[in-house]
Amino acid sequence: MMKIEVLQKIKEKIRHLKTIEDGFYAERYKDVEVTDSFSIEDFEALPFTDKADLRDAYPLGIMACPEEKVVRIHSSSGTTGTPVIIPYTQKDIDDWTLMFKRCYEMTGVGNMDRVHITPGYGLWTAGISFQAGAEAVGAMAIPMGPGNTDKQLKMMMDLKSTVLCSTSSYALLLAERIEQMGIGDKIHLHKGLIGSEQWGEKMRRRISDSLGAKLYDIYGLTEIYGPGVAISCDYETGMHYWDDFFYFEIIDPNTGKVLPFGEEGELVITTLEKEGAPLIRYRTHDLTHFENGSCPCGSPHPRIATLKGRTDDMFKVKGVNMFPAQVAEVLGEVAGVSSEYQVMIDHLNGRDILTLYFEVDNGQNKEFMEAEVADHFKRKIGIGIFPKAVDIGELPRSEKKTTRIYDNRY
Ligand code: ZN
Repeated sequence: MMKIEVLQKIKEKIRHLKTIEDGFYAERYKDVEVTDSFSIEDFEALPFTDKADLRDAYPLGIMACPEEKVVRIHSSSGTTGTPVIIPYTQKDIDDWTLMFKRCYEMTGVGNMDRVHITPGYGLWTAGISFQAGAEAVGAMAIPMGPGNTDKQLKMMMDLKSTVLCSTSSYALLLAERIEQMGIGDKIHLHKGLIGSEQWGEKMRRRISDSLGAKLYDIYGLTEIYGPGVAISCDYETGMHYWDDFFYFEIIDPNTGKVLPFGEEGELVITTLEKEGAPLIRYRTHDLTHFENGSCPCGSPHPRIATLKGRTDDMFKVKGVNMFPAQVAEVLGEVAGVSSEYQVMIDHLNGRDILTLYFEVDNGQNKEFMEAEVADHFKRKIGIGIFPKAVDIGELPRSEKKTTRIYDNRY
């Protein structure tokens, strides 16, 4: 799978990292020998880099270039503990903008589009990169940032925004508000670039129908530039990623071994061009697999599947491992069930209890829906649950990621 020129680039990068005198890289690669015979097997024996490594290097221990070359930093949200700081050189910013430009081109966004950007600005990578990419294709960027939904909708109507950039949770919130206010005919969106988090088919359809827009999944993470690393195309065959900037591996999250092509596992990314903070074998904790064959869109860039979830989202109930994506999948198969759900896990009288709250379409018989969902769950996942049907809008929505799993056992 790995091309000779990719291996060559990685070898050069490691040789460079070995020259750094202190900080994360000096420690990590000091004992690694990069001889002329350095092979793919040698590469696959290199240690992984994890978020904890970057956190330990706070604030600038992962700067891999002279400071005069650094033009900006970004930081990951760091809801718990120390944040991660990523330095960027001008080349890093230019490369990132180019990748993001490709993302817009992949979705057909052009210089007559008006791009409504709701992700956050500031230390975050999202707002500024959605904007840079939009400007690079000549579109009109509308840098809203998050929050104030009514103001968002007013601007969306007055400026006739044609493209929405958002998380899936916020897109749902906007879509529902548009329905409630009955302003669908004043909304001119025709495309949505939706930041990748795992979301079910039902949620996608619901957002797409309410907004009247075709939706694209866009992927990226702060540690690896930010959003714009991969995007889906019109054919929805997974997400194309920029293999001239990255080397992707899929590993078994438990053993760390590289999996055979097509098997589902954890995505590991090596950057090929990054200067400010290059990363070798960075564990994303995102679950996906490589898609086989070429895409009808004709893009030469390979694809990974839409994310299935995160390795750290996995939860175990009654000895069975499961992911939020599987819950969404089960609910997706039951007619009359809407897209939103919440899982509560408790431990009572010596056993695990899973209560599944889910929203049902208006006019559905809740008792009947509960029996249907419990039955589907038992057949597909193999455990009994307590189903609780609620009305649409009863479960919480959020502007960022919506929390759906509440584990009260620990
Ligand atoms: Zn394609």
